[in-house]
Amino acid sequence: MDSDTDTGTDTDTDTHTDIDADVAVVGAGAAGLSLALRLARPPAGADWVRAVVLAAPPGPARTARRTWCYWEEGAGPYDEVLTASWERLRVRSGDGETVDAALAPLRYKMLDSGAFEEHVAGVVAAAPWVRWVEAAAEGVESVPGGALVRARRADGTRLTVRARWVLDSRPPARLPAARTTLLQHFRGWFVRTREPVFDPGAVEFMDFRTPQPPHGLSFGYVLPTGPREALVEYTEFSRRPLGRAAYDRALGQYTARVLGLGGYEVLRCEQGVIAMTDGDFPRRAGAHVFRIGAAAGAVRPSTGFAFSAVQRQCAAVADALHTGRVPQPPRVHPARARLMDAVLLYALDRGRVDGPAFFARLFDRVPAPVLLRFLDGRGSLPHDLALGRHVPVAAMLGSALALPFTPRRTPPVPDRRSERNRA
Ligand SMILES: Cc1cc2nc3c(=O)[nH]c(=O)nc-3n(C[C@H](O)[C@H](O)[C@H](O)COP(=O)(O)OP(=O)(O)OC[C@H]3O[C@@H](n4cnc5c(N)ncnc54)[C@H](O)[C@@H]3O)c2cc1C
Repeated sequence: MDSDTDTGTDTDTDTHTDIDADVAVVGAGAAGLSLALRLARPPAGADWVRAVVLAAPPGPARTARRTWCYWEEGAGPYDEVLTASWERLRVRSGDGETVDAALAPLRYKMLDSGAFEEHVAGVVAAAPWVRWVEAAAEGVESVPGGALVRARRADGTRLTVRARWVLDSRPPARLPAARTTLLQHFRGWFVRTREPVFDPGAVEFMDFRTPQPPHGLSFGYVLPTGPREALVEYTEFSRRPLGRAAYDRALGQYTARVLGLGGYEVLRCEQGVIAMTDGDFPRRAGAHVFRIGAAAGAVRPSTGFAFSAVQRQCAAVADALHTGRVPQPPRVHPARARLMDAVLLYALDRGRVDGPAFFARLFDRVPAPVLLRFLDGRGSLPHDLALGRHVPVAAMLGSALALPFTPRRTPPVPDRRSERNRA
């Protein structure tokens, strides 16, 4: 079991705890929670590994509650804690042409990060070999045979975890050098309307009836959880996030002029920025230190979705830990998907394709389950190649030919303030 040593008692902030473990998981977001869950439930016959999960206490290191959507076939491991799920998806072009697609055999699922955290905390509480500690990591240092994580609790007391392996999901300080770095940035309102106006049977996945920005593209995204309740988001793919007032203006216009919601109240908000980049995220940070999650390239560059890829990545890491192998996180998006995404990002960023027309046409021509499997990096080669028939060939070919001559540049440091304290 964990061995703790308390040393130094002069003042509260001098109190110091040492913990020995096989694995330190830094951060309790999508990746940290998904890995903690797998370590708390080892497969039958596998040895359990002693793990410490370092979850950021309330404060600047802690990311705000968020919504994770993903799709999968049939029942899944988190179904009991989902907020909602859907069997149909709609995409609307700028002039209102609507594709209403059945997703079977897939389902589109919505998971609240707070509900997921509660679920994982419950499982971890019943697994004494996984220890949950609320402390912010301040540094990770390689030492012979492992690494030290130095951390601080909310009350100022210090903590050092010595582990054979560190799996670190903290956001990287810098984004990698890339040929294209776009941002997917958005703000959403959880609304309750006076009248029943939503169709809880379908997700409005991309609604391009929003005014288009001068660079990039914008769309509405509506996740209806009941006839009067929905998460309504305004999203842009562009180079810079907006200020809160600009998002609220865009949301106000979208809910009133496009959706025609009438009277409603805003119960809560969610805001975020996701890097869409063809840069390469280093997955190893030391002999015994690996990154996981978005920090290890789990975000699909062309969509900003990461949750399913995080599951695949954490399953592979947990499997390596349970079988005594080096827990190197795999690349979760195949080379073919990354190349196609690099071409699309280049074309979108340089204005070589009309983004709304591009996506609306794809959803119009390609069955939604085929497209969603491709977006998850799970398409078959024939299906992936068939997609090529429905994209503007000259623009995409021109972008593909330009890639080898495009230098990779390091983008400016991302501003993460907008992901916190969204009210
Ligand atoms: C608002 C928002 C909504 C998103 N919605 C979706 C979606 O619907 N579907 C999808 O597939 N993807 C979505 N994404 C993209 C991606 O899935 C998420 O960003 C996902 O949370 C990434 O998981 P992660 O574990 O890598 O990072 P995070 O979930 O951000 O986890 C990192 C964790 O590290 C913690 N941390 C930071 N610093 C420290 C420290 N010093 N010490 C200890 N802990 C620390 C943070 O508090 C956080 O809990 C969304 C992103 C955002 C920003």
